[in-house]
Amino acid sequence: MGKTRSKQLSPEKFLGFKIGSDRKLADWPQMVEYFKKLADSSDRVQMDVLGETTEGNPFIRLIITSPENLKELEKLRQIQLKICNPVGVTAVEEKHLVAEGKTIVLITCSIHSSEIAASQMSMELAHLLATKNTPEVKRILKNVILLLVPSLNPDGHEIVVKWYKETLGTPFEGMGPPWMYHKYVGHDNNRDWFMFTQKETRLAVGEIHNKWHPQIVYDLHQMGGNGPRLYVPPYTDPIDPNVDPVLQSEIAFLGTSMQNELITEGKKGVISHCIYDAWTPARAYQHYHGGVRILSEAASVGIATPIEVKTSEMTGGRGYHPLKQRWYNPYPWTGGKWTLRDIVDYELSAAVACLRNAARYRDFWLRGSLEIAKRALNPEKGPYAFVFPPKQKDPDTAAVLLNTLIFGGVHVHVAEEPFEAEGVKYPAGTYVIPFAQPYGRFAKTMLEIQEYPDLRDDPTQAPIRPYDVTAHTLPLIMHVEAHQIDEKFNAKLKHIEKVSLPEGKVHGENKPFYVFTSEWNVSFKAMNRLIDEGAQVYRLYDSLEVGDKIFPQGTFLVEGSKKILASLKELSKSLALDFHGIDEKPENVFKINKPKVGIYKAWSSLADEGWTRFVFENFGFSFEILTPQDIRQGGLSRFDALVFADYPRELIVNGMAAAARMGFGMARYPAKYRVGIGKQGVGEVLKFLGSGGTVVTVNDACNFAIKDLSAPAINVVEQKPPSEFYIPGSILRAIFDTTCPIAYGLDREEAIFFEGGPVFDVKLGESVAVYPETNSLLSGWILGEKLLVGKTALAELPMGEGTAILIGFSPLFRSQAHSTFKVLFNSLLYASGEIP
Ligand SMILES: [Zn+2]
Repeated sequence: MGKTRSKQLSPEKFLGFKIGSDRKLADWPQMVEYFKKLADSSDRVQMDVLGETTEGNPFIRLIITSPENLKELEKLRQIQLKICNPVGVTAVEEKHLVAEGKTIVLITCSIHSSEIAASQMSMELAHLLATKNTPEVKRILKNVILLLVPSLNPDGHEIVVKWYKETLGTPFEGMGPPWMYHKYVGHDNNRDWFMFTQKETRLAVGEIHNKWHPQIVYDLHQMGGNGPRLYVPPYTDPIDPNVDPVLQSEIAFLGTSMQNELITEGKKGVISHCIYDAWTPARAYQHYHGGVRILSEAASVGIATPIEVKTSEMTGGRGYHPLKQRWYNPYPWTGGKWTLRDIVDYELSAAVACLRNAARYRDFWLRGSLEIAKRALNPEKGPYAFVFPPKQKDPDTAAVLLNTLIFGGVHVHVAEEPFEAEGVKYPAGTYVIPFAQPYGRFAKTMLEIQEYPDLRDDPTQAPIRPYDVTAHTLPLIMHVEAHQIDEKFNAKLKHIEKVSLPEGKVHGENKPFYVFTSEWNVSFKAMNRLIDEGAQVYRLYDSLEVGDKIFPQGTFLVEGSKKILASLKELSKSLALDFHGIDEKPENVFKINKPKVGIYKAWSSLADEGWTRFVFENFGFSFEILTPQDIRQGGLSRFDALVFADYPRELIVNGMAAAARMGFGMARYPAKYRVGIGKQGVGEVLKFLGSGGTVVTVNDACNFAIKDLSAPAINVVEQKPPSEFYIPGSILRAIFDTTCPIAYGLDREEAIFFEGGPVFDVKLGESVAVYPETNSLLSGWILGEKLLVGKTALAELPMGEGTAILIGFSPLFRSQAHSTFKVLFNSLLYASGEIP
């Protein structure tokens, strides 16, 4: 029996309210159930659960297209795969592919869960496409395969809806929750699209992007409520030059056509070409994978509570004013009431406009994809390949880098025989990534040095800020050796699906002690596991010669036993580490204990705090989360180390009252969530230091250490205006004192990720890392480099009995900066270790 359309429930009937009604939200279980019902009753809709989210919610994707297409889905997907990788495809076949293929459109909603309208709208969009029989809808269904993700962050959807319902009718109605809408990364879930660290990113990329290679990815967001009503591309400059020119023009073409349709429908305040650039791949996977990634940003309401905006309250931003009529803002919105339903209406129109474009210009989109793929296979210019010598300082992290690229669709090869490139000999086992391959541009942007363009006409002007950061060179921030080779070379290469390291070895049975490197990040995982199993672990305070091997300072040493030997054997297999048995305990060692760590978590936490927990968990460190109240409570001497992640000082001390003054707009929370640690908390932290504790502050939080804890250093760039000093997310060079336990396992020269951080003069204590005399910038953009010369990047400061470790950069940066993970790990071990 065919499925009858009359049985298809509208969202309104299912939910009992119209989508977008004031103060009404569908929660995630309701949405999943609705989509399931819709799919069961429609021959145009398929729903699949692709996996589980971080907190165990179902992650779903719908496929919506004509019944005919739905029956031939796999065949159509194969056509798409050929278009995206047309190796050996003849001109005649090309014509067939373009004639038979469909435009693949991926619409993703509400990755930022408080920007909730899109997820609600997705129910109406699906229902509309499942039920309407207008020529326009039929054309869309015939020509387009829509992949619809109602939420890229279902966990956050639940967090936001729960909080909203709890606060309905209270003075706090309409505020976002005073905590992050993702267990680990909050708003940064939209900065994870090249490192793929989070479950949701991996599901979306692995199960959708990589399976379908959409021509169009449309990602729906919301922005502040006092500007334009909806932003659509074109983006502003800069656009990463690795984004194919065809895509750059398609972005403008699609965005402008959407703007045109909305304005034709009478919708005011639809603006383009402002605020958002297209420099970083962290937000735009598809730009390097044969398709456009557009976003829209709708003016927000208070979650689902309407707002009223007076004309006098309307504000502009970089390069635009919402009230002024300009080519990019032809029909300004001038204020008034604005509701969740208004956003749903705008977004529904925008989604349909996008689909209409995709349907009407189906052949154009497919031809574009084909041309982009052909250019990728036969690049006009660019490097020939990137080469990774097999001997790496931290081979495990090198494997992480290569496997990350493989997950991103990059073909990685291994040389089966030695070869020569640009006069340099490389052994068999060298990894090679040729640039000429379908997603070679993704590899290139991730592996090369970024030269961020200074867009000012005049160097005395204030810098034009990037939307995100300016650098993402993985070999630098992961400390992996990679060479860009421009000249063609010959090598016998084998394509590999995964880089796996050969198992390590335990050298020597039943030895009283074993040493293992601390230069690999994964060694810290081994160390933590061994301590958890009851092993006694030490670090070498002096270097040690064993046979022909020299183990540097900081090398781990573990006491052997039958039980531990079994663990070492297991670890040598699972983590590829080598353990070397020795007969005697070296003289100069210090014992390490499992660090007892407290991580400060402000109300309305920021992503760096979550990334810290994420990385600590991955490497086996334990911790307790401390709210402002917990810090005020005192009793902190149960910890070895307190970690203050990258928070503004004001937020740490004064909480949201300060945050509101700083423009975070969070003044209206219940008193419990408004506070920082306050004077009382500062006193408790000082007491903790007085009793010998260690305080570790990251980036902005270092100003808290200096100003509130009186750590003996000054931030020399604090008063500098951006025109004099400006580094908005770049990779810099720093020189480390590797004899200091905080820098064990690092090289003397390391790449650090610097994002608007402090720069120190140390008054009393040690400079563990300093900036060099010249060439501080490794990748990205820098203004005011001379202010760094000879200054301190990482300081160890005595605080009575205790210690403050000030890290003036981002040692973990979004779980990307593997080169400096050890700085934070070492700091914890330094705090808990029994150092002579
Ligand atoms: Zn957003």
